[in-house]
Amino acid sequence: MPDGAHLCASLRIWAVPAPDRVPTGITTSPCHRSTRTRQCAPCTQPCAWRQCEVGVTCVTVVATPAYEGVPVGDQTSDYIIIGAGSSGSVLARRLLDAGHSVHVIEAGPVDSNPNIHSPQGWPALLLSDNDWKVMTTPQHHAADRSLYWPRGKMLGGSSSMNGMIYIRGHRDDYDAWAAAGNTGWGWDAVLPLFKRSEDHEDGASEFHGSGGPLHVSRLQNLHPASQAFVDAAVALGHPLTEDFNAKMMEGVGFNHATIKDGRRHSAWQAFVAPVLENSALTVTTDALVTRLVLDGARAIGVEYVTAAGTQIARAAAEIIVSAGTIGSPKILQLSGIGARDDLDAAGIERRVELPGVGKNLHDHLLVGNIYATGEPLVPGRNNLLEAQLFAHSSQADDDAPDLQPLFLHLPYPTDGGRVPEQGYTIAPGLVAPRSRGTLRVASADPATAPIVDPNILADDYDVEALADAVIMCRQIGGHDAFAPFRPTEYVPETTPVTRDEIRALIRALAGTYHHQVGTCRMGVDDHAVVDPALRVVGVSGLRVVDASIMPTIPRGNTNAPSIMIGEKASDLILSDI
Ligand SMILES: Cc1cc2nc3c(=O)[nH]c(=O)nc-3n(C[C@H](O)[C@H](O)[C@H](O)COP(=O)(O)OP(=O)(O)OC[C@H]3O[C@@H](n4cnc5c(N)ncnc54)[C@H](O)[C@@H]3O)c2cc1C
Repeated sequence: MPDGAHLCASLRIWAVPAPDRVPTGITTSPCHRSTRTRQCAPCTQPCAWRQCEVGVTCVTVVATPAYEGVPVGDQTSDYIIIGAGSSGSVLARRLLDAGHSVHVIEAGPVDSNPNIHSPQGWPALLLSDNDWKVMTTPQHHAADRSLYWPRGKMLGGSSSMNGMIYIRGHRDDYDAWAAAGNTGWGWDAVLPLFKRSEDHEDGASEFHGSGGPLHVSRLQNLHPASQAFVDAAVALGHPLTEDFNAKMMEGVGFNHATIKDGRRHSAWQAFVAPVLENSALTVTTDALVTRLVLDGARAIGVEYVTAAGTQIARAAAEIIVSAGTIGSPKILQLSGIGARDDLDAAGIERRVELPGVGKNLHDHLLVGNIYATGEPLVPGRNNLLEAQLFAHSSQADDDAPDLQPLFLHLPYPTDGGRVPEQGYTIAPGLVAPRSRGTLRVASADPATAPIVDPNILADDYDVEALADAVIMCRQIGGHDAFAPFRPTEYVPETTPVTRDEIRALIRALAGTYHHQVGTCRMGVDDHAVVDPALRVVGVSGLRVVDASIMPTIPRGNTNAPSIMIGEKASDLILSDI
């Protein structure tokens, strides 16, 4: 029995009051809902508690069975969703709206950290308790450096810690998915799904939706340094674009962002927080999913661990893995679903051989290009990431841009290195990388971090395209538009002159753009992990729904595409019933 628990006789659940875990500003009240019933009348103590932070979030935390002998099925919902991130939140909402019961199981806590909700708070979330703090293996083609990859661990997942930039990618990205056999995933099919989610402040148009759960706003009160970036790029010949999600993606301009009334609008806040009163919803936070329970080749349950111990939840209809590009392949592998060699090396019993699990890992890349300023900049505004540029490198061989340099009005070291006291960053960015890596579990112990090897810069295309981006960004950084800030080049310390020096700089500095995808790749070939309906190949009752299913990464930030994947999954699931 867990510490401090009492047995709620009528419900046969161990009730674990945990007022010490309730963050400041959150009030508690007795149980309104459990996994089985909404009222726990016979209890003399609260057996679950409700957390309500005014204007932010309101969630029921459920106390669940924690003793031997609880039959699988004591906690049964129609659908279990593992992971409350960008895709999982959308799917949860759509399934609830269709009248189904849904149990969301999330490893992280409630989204009560104030830094989640302030648009300028995201740097403070890096390396916090809300971060999985993923570390890669030493990267052979990047000076043997291990890379730090933040990933969101809380309600909202990475949409609760990201930079809030709302970009969908280029239409060619989705048409390429469809051309590879993923019927129903071309641009004309997915554009209505992007629009369905959206409540754009400009209202409905050919490219935008209104009335959807996710608020998308234009940035106001722009920072003078962002304006200088746009002015410099335009002066150097880049076209000005006023909406990267409309007709012309190419060019320089200001971002639109998932910010509502001055606060982050995470996928959780947009899609699930407004329907927390729905009695068909169960949310379990602080619960690490350790494996899927399989009955032959059918997924029937989910094993997870909370402070109360190991629990099992059962799904009457389907289980959906939405644990993100790192979490989803790990859960499959821990369940015996994966490549023979990977499972054997980790000592995991093979249940379903799927060679593609954990393969095809890729990410956009950024290179730190930092300027120190002679005097402090005015404080950061909006999301600290107001402007960017889409452009072609000399390597690009198609219509869509392959570079996405980003302006940050703070010093941002992509190698984790030194920074000036005050400054800004004009970061060369690559969004059509060709290098591919792998992820595999290190052992059968769910608490052990997986072995993550993105193999960055293995393909020369990536190095050469980034070299063009470095040159482009340094030209912009040297433009007179920045003169009022009295900038000096800070990183790199020594100006690279030759192409070889630029290549060396890239290998020394390149880091993540935070957009990892691809480890449970959708497709119709032998290495596909999910089919175009997102069903795990060879296992019934199981889908993967998150950024891990992307066959190739879209050219642009990946939150909006992950939200679209949640929308698409809801159509696929509901049309299957
Ligand atoms: C620092 C940062 C900045 C970014 N900036 C932007 C940006 O400005 N714009 C943009 O479009 N994109 C941005 N992104 C990327 C974008 O947020 C992600 O691509 C997107 O959120 C991925 O969605 P997902 O559903 O695949 O995964 P996630 O949103 O990461 O959700 C996965 C969820 O699963 C949970 N989970 C994992 N393993 C388990 C387990 N075993 N048991 C239970 N739960 C589990 C996680 O805690 C998490 O809540 C950024 C990302 C980061 C980290």
